[in-house]
Amino acid sequence: MITLDETHAPDLRSWVEAANRVGCDFPIQNLPFGRFRLAGGDDPFRIGVAIGDQILDLKAAGLIDGDDMNALMAASPAERRALRLAISRGLREGSECRQLWGPALLAQSAAEYAVPCRIGDYTDFYTGIHHATTVGKLFRPDQPLMPNYKWVPIGYHGRSSSIAVSGQAVRRPQGQARAANALEPSFGPSKRLDYELELGYFVGPGNALGIPIAIEAAEDHLFGICLLNDWSARDLQAWEYQPLGPFLSKNFATTLSPWIVTMEALAPFRARFERPAGDPQPLAYLDSPFNRDGGALDVTLEVWLQTAAMRAAEAEPVRLTKVNVQQAAYWTAAQLLAHHTVNGCNLQPGDLLGSGTLSGPEPGRAGSMLELTLGGKHPLDLGSGEIRSFLEDGDTVILRGYCQRDGVARIGFGEASGTVVAR
Ligand code: MN
Repeated sequence: MITLDETHAPDLRSWVEAANRVGCDFPIQNLPFGRFRLAGGDDPFRIGVAIGDQILDLKAAGLIDGDDMNALMAASPAERRALRLAISRGLREGSECRQLWGPALLAQSAAEYAVPCRIGDYTDFYTGIHHATTVGKLFRPDQPLMPNYKWVPIGYHGRSSSIAVSGQAVRRPQGQARAANALEPSFGPSKRLDYELELGYFVGPGNALGIPIAIEAAEDHLFGICLLNDWSARDLQAWEYQPLGPFLSKNFATTLSPWIVTMEALAPFRARFERPAGDPQPLAYLDSPFNRDGGALDVTLEVWLQTAAMRAAEAEPVRLTKVNVQQAAYWTAAQLLAHHTVNGCNLQPGDLLGSGTLSGPEPGRAGSMLELTLGGKHPLDLGSGEIRSFLEDGDTVILRGYCQRDGVARIGFGEASGTVVAR
């Protein structure tokens, strides 16, 4: 089902020199898709592929006709692979396309980005079992993990209108919250603003209403993944989340990285999906031989923070978390697609599924500040003379991610950054 081909060869090099540098997020083996234009312009956004420190404009290179990413996402896996092969061959060292495609390049430093596609619907799941357990303990000490957690992938319908691309300014939300010992709620700016480290899974072709996607077919309906920060106001969330789940505590902003790393690029980084001994095995509609052998993703994710004071001092951001998705996610992307559609719900090209906060098993590897500070009780020492319980105005949160394995080329996701601004 997932095969390696010549586009994954570790020794491939590009005539775009920066793509060959060690540690580059966008070597020729990656080729992620995004929407870009010259910064500050008002041209329509165009579809591009990141290569080294450049962007290849696919239409200018004669590789596609239009500017519609969703149309590209609706293509069959065979069509996707054919386009990837054509891009890979043309960008290789020695390719005759160099003369023709040279003018179709734009430096990433000169570009601005849009959300990579039209996101019709956005669903956020809750696949991070260590996150669910730690947060559950804070909200419900007697019953951290709900009894359904190991049987059914938990999710809620999010909001796509407030999804933006990296660089987003996030205005501190306001709303109702109830202090620990108060009888009544108060109204005001959130005092417990947080980030959530997640992956975003983009839907490819999708399904007709009433016709589920079987797990065996789910990989064909996955287009690719990005980094996703699900900004969360914990004080609003604690007051509002029962009985129907999060609402205004999470729909004020979601930040994505500009590049969709395709499932084809991720092929060398698939991993076994296994349940810990003693845990229930997935029901049949959430199980397949491929999902067991290679349904999981070997992706490393990091969260970095730069405060306003650090920025003023020209100090680099500090890393708060490093976690591997394999250790964090209880359900695979294919299981989420199969589950989301099993009742007949239709997914469309460009729909976005969030993984839920991805936290490692150890407390220091948590994907949210709520967990790192145990609900604000143990503030983080940032090492800059500052501490944090939750985010403050001027804080920039940066998500990064990459895949690295022996014998294959490292690929990266770029970053998803956003800055909190005062109400
Ligand atoms: Mn979330």
